[in-house]
Amino acid sequence: MLVAMSVGATDQEIEDVKGHIAAEGLTAHESRGLERVVIGVVGDIAGRKERVMGRLSALPGVDSVTPISRPFKLASREFHPADTIVRVLGTIIGDGSLTLMAGPCSVESRDQLFETADAVAAAGATVLRGGAFKPRTSPYSFQGLGIEGLGYLAEARERTGLPVITEVMEPTDVSVVAEHADILQVGTRNMQNFPLLTAVGRAGRPVMLKRGLAATIEEWLMSAEYILSAGNPDVILCERGIRTFDTWTRNTLDVAAVPLLHHVTHLPVVVDPSHATGKRWLVRPMALAGVAAGADGIMVEVHPRPDEAWSDGEQSLTLGQFSDLAPMLRTIHGEVRGLSRDPLVVR
Ligand code: PEP
Ligand code: MN
Repeated sequence: MLVAMSVGATDQEIEDVKGHIAAEGLTAHESRGLERVVIGVVGDIAGRKERVMGRLSALPGVDSVTPISRPFKLASREFHPADTIVRVLGTIIGDGSLTLMAGPCSVESRDQLFETADAVAAAGATVLRGGAFKPRTSPYSFQGLGIEGLGYLAEARERTGLPVITEVMEPTDVSVVAEHADILQVGTRNMQNFPLLTAVGRAGRPVMLKRGLAATIEEWLMSAEYILSAGNPDVILCERGIRTFDTWTRNTLDVAAVPLLHHVTHLPVVVDPSHATGKRWLVRPMALAGVAAGADGIMVEVHPRPDEAWSDGEQSLTLGQFSDLAPMLRTIHGEVRGLSRDPLVVR
């Protein structure tokens, strides 16, 4: 439920409300708007909702108490009407600008990463991606350079000034990945790895949560809720395609998820057309479609020589293809933003 404090409620009144919430065994999440403080109350409230709502409504300084209808409370727009904006180094995600995350599927060597990082930075990428711990379908495929790869990513950040995103696969790796990277990625195969979600929720770094291969929007947002409820407000969602009956694309990009998410949640939404399609020549049209649908950003795999890539070469853009794509995405983004001044068009 949502406790809206009156405009001008005192700090003591706010603390008293939080004290009552804690005394009920529930958790208070405070959100300070320009005018007033809103306190989200989360926890299992079955069987005592009416009583708790009545008690809280009667406290001094409380304006209203309303239930949050969605099961994902902290992720819902009801709790947090304004868009969440994630700030990381000089990059801002979710403020209406276009985030371009680009880099190799896997970090293969210092040279390969630096060559890619220099090129994508020059082409206007705002975040550098690169996998050090790779979730591979086959145990015989390249599993990533691990900590050596994290070191190269940190060096590439120094070199380009771009924040770095990389996947973390295990709760025990969260601290070492958080030491090297600026944004932690939770991959598709781990979307419902609840101990991992809780661990990244405590890591003090923004998290990008990819949609599970067969996850509904609601399951995905419940996973985001794990991260938010562990105390991390900086969650970014990434639509990367879902498993359907078709086999001609690696996955099926759910473009409608983008405006739908913007409707129900305040979290920024990124589209990954590389894993969604599995085919290099489909990446550009699907990246453009993602931006046209209102995505806050795009994540694409880029490799200097895709045919020699150690993973996902078929879906990786060349350096030249990325530098051609970036301005096209910016053009479409500018057009969509022009239209979205009419709120009915996009959000
Ligand atoms: C990736 O982005 O490196 C990756 C493995 O993607 P996904 O989890 O979407 O398959
Ligand atoms: Mn990949």
